[in-house]
Amino acid sequence: MNTPEFITSIAAMQEASKLAKKEGTVGLVPTMGALHAGHISLIKAARAACDVVVVSIFVNPTQFGPNEDYERYPRTLDADLKLLEQERVDFVFGPEASEMYPAGNGGTFVDVPGIGDRLDGISRPGHFRGVATVVAKLFHITSPDMAFFGQKDAAQVAVLRAMVRDLNFPLQLVVCPTVREPDGLAMSSRNRHLTSNERTQSLALYRALSQAHDEVHRGIRDTRELRNRMMRTMQNEPLVRTEYVEVVHPETLLPIEDVSEGALLAIAARIGGTRLIDNILLPPPTRNDLCE
Ligand code: AMP
Repeated sequence: MNTPEFITSIAAMQEASKLAKKEGTVGLVPTMGALHAGHISLIKAARAACDVVVVSIFVNPTQFGPNEDYERYPRTLDADLKLLEQERVDFVFGPEASEMYPAGNGGTFVDVPGIGDRLDGISRPGHFRGVATVVAKLFHITSPDMAFFGQKDAAQVAVLRAMVRDLNFPLQLVVCPTVREPDGLAMSSRNRHLTSNERTQSLALYRALSQAHDEVHRGIRDTRELRNRMMRTMQNEPLVRTEYVEVVHPETLLPIEDVSEGALLAIAARIGGTRLIDNILLPPPTRNDLCE
């Protein structure tokens, strides 16, 4: 057990990172808190790969639309900090929104056009602009050598890869596999909002993706056929309102017609008041893209 140092000021975090970099490599795990086993898998990967581990906990207002769940997003800081003690995290960076955005919405933003306007970028306009901006800021504040993200948010990964490339951030982006509940539901901080009925029906996302995965292994390559089948599985559950079912190129997020060269199968749906996303990558990414 080791109590991480909790830092709320940008200046103090920058100073701590500068000192940490003299000790060795710095790994950053950005989160919005309400930590679960998915987050912990990223933290373990960072702990294994880096000398100093920084976890940020910040519910980023700029990535939420005006009618989205910013206020309702779960905030469980005390429980999060307890969990992090067990993971030998060195620093937890938990700034206030006013510290991160002194100019409010009138400040400088990072836009990743094209990629940032696809998948969740369509149903959540401005979402990836907020994500790219906060992650760029966190990179400047913590100067990580490696930054860890989950495959669960596949479109986010594509946006951030493009940002790291285009803005020459000197760091390695590490993508870790999606951690699931025993029945297959992808872990998410929002799962706690599901009623028991909704929880049962939320399995439609994983079921649709697993079936599509099996169909590809049985030789189906045509994405229209795969999409139709996934859509039918989603429609079987009355509480599930599908937002998108897409088969796209994993880096550009553009639709593809055939999955032979690999593909990202991605789904978003609303179940009651909760929005869930899930995806699978076909075939799996190359070894050096993945953490162990
Ligand atoms: P969030 O707190 O939801 O913003 O997520 C913080 C990081 O944890 C992001 O890189 C997510 O992709 C990752 N993450 C969230 N859920 C999972 C999961 N079930 N498996 C793996 N990574 C996840």
